[in-house]
Amino acid sequence: DLVPIRRAIISVSDKTGLIDLGKALAARGVHILSTGGSAKALADAGIAVTEVSDHTGFPEMMDGRVKTLHPKIHGGILARRDFPTHTDAMSAHDIPGIDLVVVNLYPFEATVAKGADFETCIENIDIGGPSLIRGAAKNHDFVAVVTDASDYAELLGQLEANDGQTTLAFRRTLAAKAYARTGSYDAAISRWFAGQLGQEYPQRLTFGGELRQTLRYGENPHQSAAFYTTGDKRPGIATATQLQGKELSYNNLNDTDAAFELVSEFDRPAIAIIKHANPCGVAEGDNLLDAYTRALACDPVSAFGGIIAMNRTLDAATAEQIAKLFAEVVIAPDADDAAKAFLATKKNLRVLLTGSMPNPAEPGLFVKSVSGGYLVQTRDNGRIAQADLKVVTKRAPSEAELADLLFAFRVGKHVKSNAIVYAKAGATVGIGAGQMSRVDSSRIAAWKSADAAKAAGLEEAGTKGSVVASDAFFPFADGLLAAADAGVTAVIQPGGSMRDAEVIAAADERGLAMVFTGMRHFRH
Ligand code: 5GP
Repeated sequence: DLVPIRRAIISVSDKTGLIDLGKALAARGVHILSTGGSAKALADAGIAVTEVSDHTGFPEMMDGRVKTLHPKIHGGILARRDFPTHTDAMSAHDIPGIDLVVVNLYPFEATVAKGADFETCIENIDIGGPSLIRGAAKNHDFVAVVTDASDYAELLGQLEANDGQTTLAFRRTLAAKAYARTGSYDAAISRWFAGQLGQEYPQRLTFGGELRQTLRYGENPHQSAAFYTTGDKRPGIATATQLQGKELSYNNLNDTDAAFELVSEFDRPAIAIIKHANPCGVAEGDNLLDAYTRALACDPVSAFGGIIAMNRTLDAATAEQIAKLFAEVVIAPDADDAAKAFLATKKNLRVLLTGSMPNPAEPGLFVKSVSGGYLVQTRDNGRIAQADLKVVTKRAPSEAELADLLFAFRVGKHVKSNAIVYAKAGATVGIGAGQMSRVDSSRIAAWKSADAAKAAGLEEAGTKGSVVASDAFFPFADGLLAAADAGVTAVIQPGGSMRDAEVIAAADERGLAMVFTGMRHFRH
């Protein structure tokens, strides 16, 4: 199953590594065919190369739309060397075999990302390139196909190890990767096209992501897993650079994503500490250190082994405090040099830098698998502002209460339902997550807050004098009464329950101020 490489076609838009590859192939006596720009780059470097147009006797034409689309090229790639009818056709029409195809495509995705106009995007749809790739991958019994400059080294290694030949196993691996590339390329085109037609997000979903990382395992060690990227450039785990630390795990990626999306909600410096995709402390502050200290105070026990996200450049003072806690991952838009130096002393801590913050109001897609298929919805980019609030109680919230209510509701959007969030002075003081009944979430949050206060030697629980947010309406007055018992002064919730009147009456009776948002934030 070893196949020698005698003739190669090279046609690449991204010329990274081209010259080194060309030199190595030429040194092995490989006859190189190449298209205009690639051929010029090779020839300029002194590498012997035949222009495809000289090989076929047809010029490249129509602004490059037709370069390699010729039977002399595609016959040379697709012919089975072991079928007499195929080899007869090769000799009858003077079609030499092509054993290696090196192609990367017109940069369609990058052109779209640059915000190019419709015509420019259309012109950046590669036609001949995918045909070369797909043909070579189909005929992998005889042809090797390389679609990624990062695979040149492995190709050359194979040739070195096998006396100028490739193994079938390697060609099959390359073929699988080749179809992943043409698949994601067409998916990107279709997604963009549907967007141009104004189609709704979920209807625009086409899979075909790029394999970013094969993960050691999934949520549990007996599950296998991988991380695919869709090409969406939203700042976050898919675009971040990892500064230090071990490889991220499936759970790390999931939790870090939740943490970073959460802090993106806030304008002031903010920190979120996440465990199992739920926050165990979130705070805004005058600076990151202030925010971190107050986020940690919410539930310092759970914070152990957590993931810490922030929405500002990490500074040394905050890094120093974070380093004291055992944390799994830190994610920030950036870190200053002093902070980097400090974190470097904690070798196991994974540090991710994204360059910027994602926009929480931006549309996007959310996918969840169910047996036999998957559900798609637009991401929850709903954002409640002060103007959206409707005061439903006799007492209206004070300015300070209002700020905390909005803060708590934004945190609640990122807490698994049923979510109850107590907050005071821009910091969470109690979070109840994931309970099947709202009143339980309310009680658990209050109880955890009391525990944290006791551990810190404080006289009263943090919920005393705090405000509370509920991600969905209180179906009964009990959840609200549990919060009132915990000492809250104000409540924010969507409203819309059959028993709203009862809940409002209970709030009035306890002297609470309550606002309705009209929008709920279930998160399951
Ligand atoms: P070059 O820079 O060598 O002139 O062009 C390389 C690019 O042309 C590659 O991205 C390759 O995929 C693309 N390409 C090769 N053949 C054809 C063709 O026949 N039609 C089109 N539209 N693109 C081609």
